[in-house]
Amino acid sequence: MTRRLLKGGLVVTMAGDDDGPADILVEGDRIAAIGRDLDVAEAEVVDLAGHLVLPGFVDTHRHCWQTGIRGVAADWSLHEYVRHIRMGYARRYRPRDVHVSILVGLLEALDSGVTTVADFCHIINSPAHADAAVAAMADAGIRTQLYYGFYDVPLARPAFAAHADRVRDAERVAGRLAGQAGIGRLGVALTEAKLVTPAETRAEIEFARAHGLPITAHMGTLSTPDGVAQLGRAGLLGPDILHVHCNFTSDEELVQIRDSGGAVCCTPETELQMGMGFPILDRLLRLGMAPALGIDIVSDYAGDMFTQMRMALQVERALRNEPVLRAGKMPATISPGVRDALAFATINGARALRRAHEIGSLAVGKQADIIAIATDGLNFMPPAAPVPAIVLQTRPGDVAFVMVAGSVVKRDGRLLGHDLARLRAEILATQAHLATPSDEDAAGGATVQAYAAAIGEIVVDKAG
Ligand SMILES: [Zn+2]
Repeated sequence: MTRRLLKGGLVVTMAGDDDGPADILVEGDRIAAIGRDLDVAEAEVVDLAGHLVLPGFVDTHRHCWQTGIRGVAADWSLHEYVRHIRMGYARRYRPRDVHVSILVGLLEALDSGVTTVADFCHIINSPAHADAAVAAMADAGIRTQLYYGFYDVPLARPAFAAHADRVRDAERVAGRLAGQAGIGRLGVALTEAKLVTPAETRAEIEFARAHGLPITAHMGTLSTPDGVAQLGRAGLLGPDILHVHCNFTSDEELVQIRDSGGAVCCTPETELQMGMGFPILDRLLRLGMAPALGIDIVSDYAGDMFTQMRMALQVERALRNEPVLRAGKMPATISPGVRDALAFATINGARALRRAHEIGSLAVGKQADIIAIATDGLNFMPPAAPVPAIVLQTRPGDVAFVMVAGSVVKRDGRLLGHDLARLRAEILATQAHLATPSDEDAAGGATVQAYAAAIGEIVVDKAG
């Protein structure tokens, strides 16, 4: 068993507010000891003096397949995103595009200190696309929950004739992965309620539960504002569902999620940009829930958690300050705090994935998912206190060391074990392919009609 001593860092465990200098002993994939000046024989020493050491970030919602179309959605609304990506670019993806996009997306996450990604994979246009996604997960070396999506991308020549064929293919993939060791797991990404029938939603959930797979779903956006209530009426809510966005989900529905044991993920940057409403972190906190964060899409913006933490924190502060300001007063203090923001991105994410016993904080017996931030840059001259420095001062490139399940995947600022020049060439070819119109582009189909019916009169051109 490999023994490594991570020595001399300033450690923020997120298991309490006990920030301070400490060493961490890692044995195999687990944390064996945390303490000052650990005296350990026969361990490889990793010198982390001058580093901030913390649990790896947990990203509870990302569509890694969109790495191949990086940045195309920079000025888009949610409506434009659905039309041009989910009913546009998605048609052009070949299995190889899925593989390289997910792999590069996962490596980008890892490089910036994200050690767990919940990958909502709704690009499964054929069984070969599913296999490509699973292969990318295995190749990346990051802790992954790959949620198999049943979403019906409109294609001129669909590989799946019916929804039931998709469920059968998920069955095939689940069978292949069942009992396999490793840090990649399968889950189920529900199709948005208005794009499928209630019976199909039930089939997706029942498939997941028959195999003990976690579930996630886009929920409570304006095209499906009452999705939680619908699941509640059908008796389908449960602790295994991670609900994403929920901007238009009512408080009563949030209580239903809470009481079912489910969780909510907020993705501040997409929600703010795309006309989805404000993130609902404050409403979740008031209901005694633990909001988690997701990065969502690099088809729009950067794939690091530092940006999302700041976005979440500052918009919540602004929302809380607003009523005071409107009353002609000034807030004496502000909230939430930087430690709250770091919890959103670490331990709350682990809770949302129902894996807080394994990841999300640094404690003896937990998985060794550990990152270290180098503090030799001008942005640490002089250094702020550890948690303010992590949340408000760190740049993604400052992440110098990343360990996942006891394996060192980044060291001295360099990602290990991947041929990045080859991956760059591959994803450039994918980007060029995806930018080229194909004969799939004109396909109609049930998804296009269902979306048109769902948005009905609600999409408007706003003045200005
Ligand atoms: Zn999403």
